[in-house]
Amino acid sequence: MSLAKPYPNLTATEKILLNSIVEGDLVRGSRIGIKAHQTLGHDLNAIMTFLALESMGIEKVDTEVSVQYIDHNMIQADYKNADDHRYLREITSRLGVICARPGSGICHQLHLEHFGRPGKTLIGGDSHTVAAGGIGMFSIGVGGFDAAMAMAGKPLYITMPRIVKVNLVGKLPQLVSAKNIILEVLRRLTVKGGVGKVLEYCGPGVATLNVAERSIIANMGAETGATTSVFPSDAETRKWLAAYGREEQWVALEADAGAVYDEEMTIDLSRLEPLIALPSQPDKVVPVREVAGKKIDQVMLGSCTNTALGDVLAIANALKDRFVSPDVDVSFYPSTRTVIRESIRRGAYDQILTAGVRMFEPICGGCNGCGFAPGTEGVSLRTTPRNFEGRSGTKSAHVYLCAPETAVASALTGVITDPRALDIPDFAYELPDKFIDPGNLFNYPKLEGTDEIHYGPNIKPIPKMPPLEDQLNKPVLLKLPDNITTDHICPAGAIYLPIRSNIPEISRHSFNVVDESYSERAKASDGGILVAGTNYGQGSSREQAAIVPRYLGVKAVIARGFARLHLANMVNWGLLPLVFRSEQDYAAVEQGDLLEIDTSDLKEAEPVRVWNRTSGSSFYVDTPLVQADLDAIKVGGRINTVK
Ligand code: SF4
Repeated sequence: MSLAKPYPNLTATEKILLNSIVEGDLVRGSRIGIKAHQTLGHDLNAIMTFLALESMGIEKVDTEVSVQYIDHNMIQADYKNADDHRYLREITSRLGVICARPGSGICHQLHLEHFGRPGKTLIGGDSHTVAAGGIGMFSIGVGGFDAAMAMAGKPLYITMPRIVKVNLVGKLPQLVSAKNIILEVLRRLTVKGGVGKVLEYCGPGVATLNVAERSIIANMGAETGATTSVFPSDAETRKWLAAYGREEQWVALEADAGAVYDEEMTIDLSRLEPLIALPSQPDKVVPVREVAGKKIDQVMLGSCTNTALGDVLAIANALKDRFVSPDVDVSFYPSTRTVIRESIRRGAYDQILTAGVRMFEPICGGCNGCGFAPGTEGVSLRTTPRNFEGRSGTKSAHVYLCAPETAVASALTGVITDPRALDIPDFAYELPDKFIDPGNLFNYPKLEGTDEIHYGPNIKPIPKMPPLEDQLNKPVLLKLPDNITTDHICPAGAIYLPIRSNIPEISRHSFNVVDESYSERAKASDGGILVAGTNYGQGSSREQAAIVPRYLGVKAVIARGFARLHLANMVNWGLLPLVFRSEQDYAAVEQGDLLEIDTSDLKEAEPVRVWNRTSGSSFYVDTPLVQADLDAIKVGGRINTVK
C-alpha cells in the first residue's frame, strides 16, 4: 500500500488523509470530504445510526470494515437494554456489520486489538474513537447520523485541521506512566486548546511508548477539543499487530523531514511527575503532591483509557501482597477479554482480586455512570478520561482523574497519594509475541440477509424535524456558562442511558443538573433560544444533545463558541448555532429575554442581527457554518436532506 501520492514534506496526518480524501485539497482551514475505510459504533449511540440507515434505505454498508460494539450500558435491570442489544445484533447482520458480542471488550481497545490499521481512516460514533490515533490511524468521532453517512459510503466533511507537532523527548520515570503525558498536554492546552487541530506526536520519546500507551494519549486528546491525534507507525506498531496475528497489515508511517506544522510543543518525558485532574474538568491538572493527603471514598480502575495489559500489570504490581484500604471501595474494569486472559495467565488478575478489588466485565460501566456511582459528596479517583459533573452517576461527587499508579497507591492508603511515596517495586513489561486466542468475540454478518428485525417498545422512531422559521421571536430559556458538556444537555448515568433511544423520554431530563424545571418550561414555551459561554457542547459525540433541544422546541443556541463534534450534530438535526462577537454582548443577555432574529436569508460569513426586545438593544452574531450547512439547517437539518 502506498501511504501518499508524491507530495513533498508531508506530516503523517496529511499522508493518511491523502489516501482517503474525496473532495477538496490539503489546505489547512479549507473544507474537505474524506471517506471512511472503517467505522465503529457502540450500543448507546448506534440505535440512532441504524434507524437513520434504515430510513435512508441502505441495504449494505460501504466500508472496508464496520464494527458495532456492545459495551456501554450492560445493566439488564429490565427489557430496555436487552431489546437494544437484540436490535443491534439483528440489524448489523442484515447490513454487513461485524457485531462484538456483549462483554467482549470496550470498543476502542477492542478495535485497536482486532481492526486498527495504520494509514487508514476510522469514523466512529463516539468521541474517543480518536484513540485509534495510537496505531497510526486518522480516527475521528462523530454523531450517529454522520456515522450512518460514513457507513453508507458518503464522505465526512471536515475543516482541514491545523497540525500541531508534539515532540516527545526523553523517557518516562518509574511510576509515571503514559496517562501523565496527556494530562500534561491538557494542563498546557486546556479543554479548548486543541479545537480545530490535530495533535501529531513525533520525536525520540515516541519509540519508548507501545501502541496501547500511545492510544491512552490519543484517546484523551479528545478532552483538548482536538479533531484527533496521530502517532507514527513504527517498529512498536508492527510488534502490536504481530501480537494480534496481523503483522501483514503493518505499513510504515512518519512525517517527512521537512513537514510543515502550524504549531509545535515539546514534552520532556523524563521531567514529568504524577499528575491529577481536579473535579470537574479534565484540564484542571496539578501535580499529585499538591493534593496528597485528601481522603477518598472510591477508586475506579479501568475504562478504554487505562486498562490495556500494561496498566493491568502495573496495578497488580502495586497491589502484590497488599490489601486496599478498608475505607475505600475499589473497582476494576478491564478493557478486553484478551487482556483478562493474558493477566490471568501472568497471575495479575489474581493479585488484583485478592487485594480486595471488585472485578467487573470488560465494559464501560462506571466510566459513564453505569455501574459504579460514588456516594453522596463522594471523592472518587478514576483512570477514566472524563470527570464532568454528574457523569459518574452522582451529581454531588468529586471526581479526580489520574494514572493507574496514582489510583492504586491511593486505594492502598485511603488518601490521594503520589505513588512514588510508596514502596512499589520497579516495573516493566513486554507484549507477548502472540496473545492467547481471544475466543468467541464477534458475530459476523449473514451475507445472505437476516431474519426479522425486532424493535423493543423503548426504541422510538426518530422525531420529525420541522424547517427553521424565517422569523424567530423566542425567549432565552436558559443562560449557561462556559464549557457546557453533552452530559449537561442530555444526562449520562444508569437511569438515563437506557432511554437514549427514546427521545421523548430522555428529553424530560435535559439540563437537569443545571435547572430541573428546564424541560417543562421549554415544552410549555413553544420554542426558545439557549445562550451559552465558550466551548458549548464539549464532551461526547452523542447526537441526542442536539436532538433533545430540538424536540423541546429550541431553535438556536447563541454561544461564545462551540465544540466541533456538537456543531456537526447541530447541523445534522437543524439546531442553529450563532456566535457572540464579544463577552459584553453575552453578558448583556438575561435568561427570559425575548430575542428576535431574522433567519430568512442566512449567508455564510455574513453577520446576523439579534434584537433584544426585552432590553430594547441589539447586537450582531456570526454564523460558524458554510453555506451548505446553513441551507441544511433551514430545512430542519441534514437528516431531512438525505431521506
Ligand atoms: Fe466507554 Fe468511558 Fe471509554 Fe467512553 S470514555 S468508551 S464510556 S470507557
